[in-house]
Amino acid sequence: MVYNDPATFMFRSTPTHHAMTSYSVIQEIKDRLDVVTVIGRYVPLQKSGNSYKGLCPFHSEKTPSFHVFPHTNTWKCFGCGAGGDIFTFVEKRENLPFPDVLRMLAKEAGVPLREVRPEERDARQRLLDLHQAAASYFQSNLLTGAAGKRARDYLAQRDITQETIERFQLGYALDGWERLLNHLQGKGFSLEEIVKAGLAIARDAGGAYDRFRNRLIIPIRDIQGRVIAFGGRILGEGEPKYLNSPQTSIFDKSQVIFGLDMARRTIRASDQVVLVEGYMDVISAHQRGFKNVVAAMGTSITAGQIRLLSRYSRNFVFALDADAAGARATWRGVMLVQETLAERGALTPTASGFRAERRMFADVSIAIMPEGQDPDDVLRQDPERWRTLIENAVPVVDYIIQQAAARFDLATASGKAQFVSEALPTLSKIGDPIQRRHYIGRVAALARVRETDVEAALGQYERGLRLGEGRRKPPAPALPPALPPHPALADVDAPPPERVLAGASEEPPLWLDDVSRATPDVSEQRPRRIGPEEHLLGLILLHHERLLPWLDDELAHLELDPFYIEDFTDPLNRALFQSLEDYIFDAPEEPLADYIARQDDAIGEHVHFLWRYAQEFEETKPRYVQESHLQRDVITSLLRLRLEKAKAALQQLEVALQEAMSPEERRGLDRHLFELLQFRNKLEKSLSRYSQTMHWTHSRRATASISPQGATPLSDA
Ligand SMILES: [Zn+2]
Repeated sequence: MVYNDPATFMFRSTPTHHAMTSYSVIQEIKDRLDVVTVIGRYVPLQKSGNSYKGLCPFHSEKTPSFHVFPHTNTWKCFGCGAGGDIFTFVEKRENLPFPDVLRMLAKEAGVPLREVRPEERDARQRLLDLHQAAASYFQSNLLTGAAGKRARDYLAQRDITQETIERFQLGYALDGWERLLNHLQGKGFSLEEIVKAGLAIARDAGGAYDRFRNRLIIPIRDIQGRVIAFGGRILGEGEPKYLNSPQTSIFDKSQVIFGLDMARRTIRASDQVVLVEGYMDVISAHQRGFKNVVAAMGTSITAGQIRLLSRYSRNFVFALDADAAGARATWRGVMLVQETLAERGALTPTASGFRAERRMFADVSIAIMPEGQDPDDVLRQDPERWRTLIENAVPVVDYIIQQAAARFDLATASGKAQFVSEALPTLSKIGDPIQRRHYIGRVAALARVRETDVEAALGQYERGLRLGEGRRKPPAPALPPALPPHPALADVDAPPPERVLAGASEEPPLWLDDVSRATPDVSEQRPRRIGPEEHLLGLILLHHERLLPWLDDELAHLELDPFYIEDFTDPLNRALFQSLEDYIFDAPEEPLADYIARQDDAIGEHVHFLWRYAQEFEETKPRYVQESHLQRDVITSLLRLRLEKAKAALQQLEVALQEAMSPEERRGLDRHLFELLQFRNKLEKSLSRYSQTMHWTHSRRATASISPQGATPLSDA
């Protein structure tokens, strides 16, 4: 049985669409690719009755509890609870965002992806090809010929090995005006294309010349390892020392992290990312086995880069030169990490702080290099020293407080006051109450004042922020600089918007578990279904501002995990949920639907579909405006979703138990069985609380259809 097959309402999209929707594409890919083959490439699988098993790649174990079920095209680990289809597997294993997974698997399955503007995509591919051709050319300049000797000498002097040169595709731009230009034109690229790629600069009088001349070339790659830009370091004296490709349609330097394509796995595995400033620092660290090291492009890290990194780890260590530690731009970046990763929490405050613990905080630490040395110097002289420096990195708040304390004369009244007031913006950004208390205590101890005095000053400062004074009046300039508060902070205490209550009534069940399964459609256009996942996601999309904080509180109350991406198994729904999280992260002014639609074609189409569904669903349920109904619908939908998954996992576990070979394996599975049964009981118990107050009936069935005009309302059958 396909336990995650959502089908309660049939929700037909108009058959006049000829292009395949993402939904159809995904189904098609699943049909064509064999789950055992796909997963078998990553995990050695052993046949065991009707299923396959192996050691789980997502948690460490000695006896296999990772199972693959070819009949349902699914997989499940009974040890850590992970499970899903090939999309979820590849997404987790490769740490790639959904659109990339979709492209990867579509290619493998030979399923063409719907392309909105093929000419645009062609142009993009062409640009990538051009960069690849340029990278190969630069590298052959470096490796062969007399001209490349300068670059080879430079790399040798910096102890860069041949292996590293190849791994980072280092190259050399010859000293001349049209060397690359001629080479690329010979490969069939036009002058316009080369200029557009930023590799040549157009002359006013016509023609163009190479941007990179007599430089060591460091290719900049995207997360999939495709070359999208270049950095060029001057050999010998001259300015600028580093020259980068300009922004192009494939290179947005505010969104790219140098080295992430090679570092992402280690970052996730070690749950730590180390940020350095230079390309050579990254290259040097990787060569010596420190593979969680990356660099932001440019002088200061951006919010986009922080969000990208936070998918892999929320533990940031900044490795700073002693003199860079004094540079304002660096500190802006350091503080930005906390700001950026705290924004999500600011939008979803909860009474218990449960959600905040899981999602709000980043650990940001500072590792200061010895005076006069940069990370590369340290790494070359003594890699163990580097390891120690990173291990002993100081939490940023401690560092800031230490630095501030050192700047004032704490023996004087005014020195104390200045020190405390300088610490306030930092204290105010600490969301976790325990940490906040800890640091208030530290500031008080350093200034030798009472904690209550620091608290009072902090309270006053924060009231000022809320009144909006703090926003217009930037805090006193200081080092490290205090950033103006994020506008979202001003609204933290605002109550969620209330809906007008339209009279108490008992709404029939909004989610139903005796599912009328849609029969597979053989036409090229498959019907899209609204299942529990889609229903839940649609409502969340429509009301996320007030539903998400409420939902997480409610789940905390039930002692269940917060609402998270693993609640979804369908790849499109997962991708959409990820976008929703990013949106809450960004807290943009832009409407949510527009924001999500902008992310990717496939997701954009899906969001509009769910949006329309949720709106129509609500329009046809006038009593639904009552907030409590909406809330109950959402929590019960979620609990039912989890319960369904638990039940399906139990069934799979029974199959696995029958096929278990050794007593040891059987014991392990028995333990999982016990845990899973407990979990199922807990869910059932939680669910019954709502059912009792709701008087569910499970017999209702709803069907829905939609015409191109979207005119046919949903109805209870
Ligand atoms: Zn596992």
